[in-house]
Amino acid sequence: MMSDNRVIGHETQATVNGTAVRAVPFTQAGEQLPRTWTFTNRNTGKPTTFTCMTGCIIDHSDNIARPTFAEDVWCQTPRENVTLPLNTNGHPEEFRVLGSEIRVMPFSATIAERLPHVTIEMIDDHYIEGLDPDGLATVIRTLAERLDSLKDRHAQLVQVRADYQRRQA
Ligand SMILES: [Zn+2]
Repeated sequence: MMSDNRVIGHETQATVNGTAVRAVPFTQAGEQLPRTWTFTNRNTGKPTTFTCMTGCIIDHSDNIARPTFAEDVWCQTPRENVTLPLNTNGHPEEFRVLGSEIRVMPFSATIAERLPHVTIEMIDDHYIEGLDPDGLATVIRTLAERLDSLKDRHAQLVQVRADYQRRQA
């Protein structure tokens, strides 16, 4: 079925995870259209154009409002944060774990960053950056093995507790 690509409306101004979100054009099918922006490149003084990555939630109006270093332009998808209470100094505190987002820096000096890639916040402010699909698959495999290990530990815990409680009776 053909999707209707006419822009029929805009989402309202909002904030996602502390990041200002611009009105995003969308189609009748609810599909967001990538936006195209032109800014003055602070290195060259010339107008420079880029088109947003699908799903970008960055408000680029700051980029176009004044001359901007091209390297400072990036697109990013939203990140949903999950926290767990971790103890680093005597009492548990909530830390963000395993948040991820897709980013692209279309003018990055690091060429690999000019294609969409994933950043994972393993734990508060500790990141794995610049993951291509193979790199992300490697991280997922490693974490999947850790989850298998936790599932084994869970089964072991259930057994050990049952044994323990039986012997106390
Ligand atoms: Zn963007």
